[in-house]
Amino acid sequence: MTHSLDGILNRALEGHDISPTEGLELLLTQDPTAIAAIRATADELRQRQTGNTVTYVINRNLNFTNICEQHCSFCAFRRDAGDDGEFWLDWGAMREKATAAVAQGATEICMQGGLNPTAKVNGSSLQYYVQLIRNIKDAWPQLHLHAFSPQEVQFIAREDRLSYTKVITALKAAGVGSLPGTAAEVLDDEVRRVLCPEKIDSDTWLKIVGLAHQLGLTTTSTMLCGHIETPMQQITHFEKLRQLQQQAIAQSTPARITEFILLPFVGQSAPKPLRRRVGRDQPVLQDVLQLTAVSRIYLGNWIPNHQPSWVKLGLAGAIEALRWGCNDIGGTLMEEHITTMAGAQGGTCLTVDDLQGAIASLDRPHQQRDTLYRPVISGPSTSMGNTAPARQSLSHKRTA
Ligand code: SF4
Repeated sequence: MTHSLDGILNRALEGHDISPTEGLELLLTQDPTAIAAIRATADELRQRQTGNTVTYVINRNLNFTNICEQHCSFCAFRRDAGDDGEFWLDWGAMREKATAAVAQGATEICMQGGLNPTAKVNGSSLQYYVQLIRNIKDAWPQLHLHAFSPQEVQFIAREDRLSYTKVITALKAAGVGSLPGTAAEVLDDEVRRVLCPEKIDSDTWLKIVGLAHQLGLTTTSTMLCGHIETPMQQITHFEKLRQLQQQAIAQSTPARITEFILLPFVGQSAPKPLRRRVGRDQPVLQDVLQLTAVSRIYLGNWIPNHQPSWVKLGLAGAIEALRWGCNDIGGTLMEEHITTMAGAQGGTCLTVDDLQGAIASLDRPHQQRDTLYRPVISGPSTSMGNTAPARQSLSHKRTA
């Protein structure tokens, strides 16, 4: 291992933020000894920043439609109206899914969908989304709705000619509890022109997430990795997320980024042009793990919770990622369409026993949490309108 790399890891262990150049050096090394030291540093920082406990959430994905006006080059989920495999759930079907989730102890519904310009109530896209929220929250007020990406916020704003502030405020008032930081892909407009040319650009993603924080909605953050992006673009993505969180802290916004989730590209069923360009169906696990460790070292002082994707890596891969800087295993999901339709083999549903058993194999304790990373300390609620399970504050050594 080089002297320089050793110095970077020592500075990180002393609590300093590493620079983009230093992050790049960590990503580019192929020396097995150096990679082992990067893993050990990430694991040590994870232990200091969040402790040994591995958290999980009992949640359900609810994708209300796959009809989408956009054509992202990695997406096997979208359909045009009338295509084979198209779906658009009615209110009753959505409510049934929420009811089944509550019966299994869910504290969260993660709701996202395609961008469907015909999804309107009284000619208003916002009114349709508000009804999506009320349909669930009126029946199950205790459920946390983790819903609608920055891209969906922009879509509603564009359809109804509203400001982002008006849209976020209305979604929050209707019952959204937090925004998923999806649609980030890689926050580099050169990459976005290939991956998702119709999506919002990097600055708009950052602007909407920053606004959500100012308006009191926490968000998550993500990166879609292992396709056409370069290591420098990966580091730039980390740098933008770190600056966004630093800005929220400096401004004392009422909400922040709670977690970072690395989402490896799955290309088995992705549209052919991108598949051909990437040249493989999935990134190499070892590369994903090295990137996982560097994300902990780069972001951990500011974004304490790091989660692998068991849908994309499989449970065994996700458990391995818990040794490379991750402290959270994610959710039960109960159903998953977006990555599974792209060809992921990780499955679509895990039970609490699956998650707890897998965590126990690492000899680390587990703890159920809610969406905002507060421990859930009582059993599941099972009747309509029941109160939410009791929670207590999560104590991190350093809270971002
Ligand atoms: S990733 Fe989302 S926005 Fe892009 S095509 Fe698929 S459903 Fe539509």
